[in-house]
Amino acid sequence: MKKRLKRLQRQVSRKYEANREGCQFNKTNNIIKLEKAIKLVYRKLNNIRTNHIHQATNMIIKLRPYRVVMEDLNISGMLKNKHLSKAIQEQGFYEFIRQMQYKCKFNGIEFVQVDKFYPSSKTCSCCGNVKKDLKLKDRMYVCDICGLEMDRDKNASINLGSYKIFEEV
Ligand SMILES: [Zn+2]
Repeated sequence: MKKRLKRLQRQVSRKYEANREGCQFNKTNNIIKLEKAIKLVYRKLNNIRTNHIHQATNMIIKLRPYRVVMEDLNISGMLKNKHLSKAIQEQGFYEFIRQMQYKCKFNGIEFVQVDKFYPSSKTCSCCGNVKKDLKLKDRMYVCDICGLEMDRDKNASINLGSYKIFEEV
Protein backbone atom coordinates (compact mmCIF):
# COMPACT_ATOMS: atom_id res chain seq x y z
CA MET A 1 0.00 0.00 0.00
CA LYS A 2 2.90 2.31 0.68
CA LYS A 3 4.15 1.54 -2.81
CA ARG A 4 0.73 2.32 -4.22
CA LEU A 5 0.65 5.56 -2.27
CA LYS A 6 4.03 6.61 -3.65
CA ARG A 7 2.97 5.79 -7.19
CA LEU A 8 -0.21 7.83 -6.85
CA GLN A 9 1.67 10.74 -5.37
CA ARG A 10 4.12 10.69 -8.27
CA GLN A 11 1.26 10.55 -10.77
CA VAL A 12 -0.54 13.47 -9.23
CA SER A 13 2.55 15.66 -9.11
CA ARG A 14 3.30 14.84 -12.76
CA LYS A 15 -0.24 15.82 -13.69
CA TYR A 16 0.02 19.07 -11.75
CA GLU A 17 3.25 19.81 -13.58
CA ALA A 18 1.70 19.00 -16.98
CA ASN A 19 -1.29 21.28 -16.40
CA ARG A 20 0.68 24.17 -15.03
CA GLU A 21 0.27 27.59 -16.56
CA GLY A 22 3.15 29.73 -15.38
CA CYS A 23 2.95 29.60 -11.62
CA GLN A 24 -0.70 28.64 -11.58
CA PHE A 25 -1.57 25.01 -10.90
CA ASN A 26 -4.85 23.77 -12.31
CA LYS A 27 -6.90 20.93 -10.93
CA THR A 28 -8.20 18.63 -13.65
CA ASN A 29 -10.77 15.90 -13.16
CA ASN A 30 -7.97 13.36 -13.29
CA ILE A 31 -6.14 15.16 -10.52
CA ILE A 32 -9.27 15.22 -8.40
CA LYS A 33 -9.73 11.50 -9.00
CA LEU A 34 -6.12 10.76 -8.04
CA GLU A 35 -6.37 12.87 -4.90
CA LYS A 36 -9.45 10.95 -3.85
CA ALA A 37 -7.57 7.70 -4.37
CA ILE A 38 -4.66 8.99 -2.27
CA LYS A 39 -7.00 9.91 0.55
CA LEU A 40 -8.46 6.42 0.47
CA VAL A 41 -5.06 4.74 0.67
CA TYR A 42 -4.14 6.99 3.61
CA ARG A 43 -7.33 5.98 5.38
CA LYS A 44 -6.70 2.28 4.75
CA LEU A 45 -3.13 2.49 6.00
CA ASN A 46 -4.31 4.26 9.10
CA ASN A 47 -6.95 1.61 9.75
CA ILE A 48 -4.38 -1.17 9.44
CA ARG A 49 -2.11 0.56 11.95
CA THR A 50 -4.84 1.29 14.46
CA ASN A 51 -6.13 -2.23 14.15
CA HIS A 52 -2.67 -3.63 14.83
CA ILE A 53 -2.37 -1.53 17.99
CA HIS A 54 -5.80 -2.73 19.15
CA GLN A 55 -4.78 -6.35 18.68
CA ALA A 56 -1.45 -5.90 20.46
CA THR A 57 -2.97 -4.08 23.44
CA ASN A 58 -5.82 -6.62 23.68
CA MET A 59 -3.27 -9.42 23.75
CA ILE A 60 -1.51 -7.82 26.73
CA ILE A 61 -4.81 -7.31 28.58
CA LYS A 62 -5.75 -10.96 27.99
CA LEU A 63 -2.64 -12.03 29.91
CA ARG A 64 -4.34 -10.46 32.96
CA PRO A 65 -1.27 -8.71 34.38
CA TYR A 66 -1.69 -7.12 37.79
CA ARG A 67 -0.05 -4.02 36.42
CA VAL A 68 1.40 -2.61 33.23
CA VAL A 69 4.47 -0.38 33.30
CA MET A 70 5.11 1.68 30.21
CA GLU A 71 7.93 3.88 29.29
CA ASP A 72 7.55 7.26 27.76
CA LEU A 73 10.16 6.78 25.06
CA ASN A 74 11.12 10.44 24.86
CA ILE A 75 9.46 10.42 21.48
CA SER A 76 10.22 13.99 20.51
CA GLY A 77 13.91 13.35 21.15
CA MET A 78 13.87 10.18 19.11
CA LEU A 79 12.06 11.82 16.22
CA LYS A 80 15.15 13.93 15.63
CA ASN A 81 17.00 10.74 14.81
CA LYS A 82 16.31 10.32 11.10
CA HIS A 83 16.78 6.56 11.17
CA LEU A 84 14.19 6.07 13.84
CA SER A 85 11.62 8.75 13.11
CA LYS A 86 9.65 6.99 10.40
CA ALA A 87 9.36 3.70 12.22
CA ILE A 88 8.30 5.48 15.38
CA GLN A 89 5.63 7.58 13.70
CA GLU A 90 4.26 4.50 12.00
CA GLN A 91 4.06 2.43 15.09
CA GLY A 92 2.03 5.16 16.68
CA PHE A 93 3.56 4.97 20.12
CA TYR A 94 1.28 7.64 21.47
CA GLU A 95 -1.75 5.73 20.29
CA PHE A 96 -0.33 2.57 21.84
CA ILE A 97 0.12 4.24 25.20
CA ARG A 98 -3.34 5.83 25.02
CA GLN A 99 -5.05 2.51 24.27
CA MET A 100 -3.07 0.65 26.92
CA GLN A 101 -4.02 3.25 29.49
CA TYR A 102 -7.76 3.15 28.92
CA LYS A 103 -7.90 -0.62 28.54
CA CYS A 104 -6.06 -1.05 31.84
CA LYS A 105 -8.46 1.35 33.52
CA PHE A 106 -11.44 -0.49 32.07
CA ASN A 107 -10.13 -3.86 33.28
CA GLY A 108 -8.99 -2.71 36.71
CA ILE A 109 -5.31 -3.17 35.95
CA GLU A 110 -2.82 -0.78 37.47
CA PHE A 111 -1.16 1.35 34.83
CA VAL A 112 2.17 3.02 35.49
CA GLN A 113 3.78 5.47 33.14
CA VAL A 114 7.47 5.75 33.86
CA ASP A 115 9.19 9.08 33.88
CA LYS A 116 11.15 9.46 30.64
CA PHE A 117 14.41 10.12 32.45
CA TYR A 118 14.34 6.77 34.24
CA PRO A 119 17.38 4.92 32.84
CA SER A 120 15.61 1.62 32.15
CA SER A 121 18.09 0.52 29.49
CA LYS A 122 21.23 1.76 31.21
CA THR A 123 20.53 0.16 34.59
CA CYS A 124 21.77 -3.36 35.33
CA SER A 125 18.76 -5.44 36.36
CA CYS A 126 21.03 -7.63 38.48
CA CYS A 127 23.17 -5.23 40.55
CA GLY A 128 21.67 -1.81 39.86
CA ASN A 129 24.79 -0.35 38.29
CA VAL A 130 24.01 2.42 35.78
CA LYS A 131 26.04 2.19 32.61
CA LYS A 132 26.32 5.72 31.26
CA ASP A 133 27.96 4.89 27.93
CA LEU A 134 25.34 2.45 26.61
CA LYS A 135 24.80 3.13 22.90
CA LEU A 136 21.67 2.51 20.87
CA LYS A 137 23.56 -0.01 18.76
CA ASP A 138 24.54 -2.09 21.80
CA ARG A 139 21.91 -4.81 21.60
CA MET A 140 23.38 -6.73 24.52
CA TYR A 141 23.67 -5.28 27.98
CA VAL A 142 27.03 -6.20 29.50
CA CYS A 143 27.54 -5.05 33.07
CA ASP A 144 31.07 -3.94 34.01
CA ILE A 145 30.40 -4.52 37.70
CA CYS A 146 28.64 -7.89 38.04
CA GLY A 147 29.25 -9.31 34.56
CA LEU A 148 25.58 -9.73 33.62
CA GLU A 149 25.06 -10.32 29.91
CA MET A 150 21.52 -9.94 28.68
CA ASP A 151 19.51 -8.75 25.71
CA ARG A 152 19.17 -5.02 26.08
CA ASP A 153 15.38 -4.93 25.86
CA LYS A 154 14.96 -7.83 28.26
CA ASN A 155 17.18 -6.08 30.79
CA ALA A 156 15.14 -2.90 30.39
CA SER A 157 11.85 -4.77 30.77
CA ILE A 158 13.00 -6.38 34.03
CA ASN A 159 13.86 -2.91 35.35
CA LEU A 160 10.45 -1.60 34.31
CA GLY A 161 8.73 -4.61 35.86
CA SER A 162 10.23 -3.85 39.26
CA TYR A 163 9.78 -0.09 38.89
CA LYS A 164 8.64 1.47 42.13
CA ILE A 165 6.33 4.42 42.00
CA PHE A 166 8.17 6.22 44.80
CA GLU A 167 11.17 6.47 42.49
CA GLU A 168 9.21 9.08 40.62
CA VAL A 169 9.33 11.53 43.49
ZN1 LIG B 1 25.41 -5.55 37.14
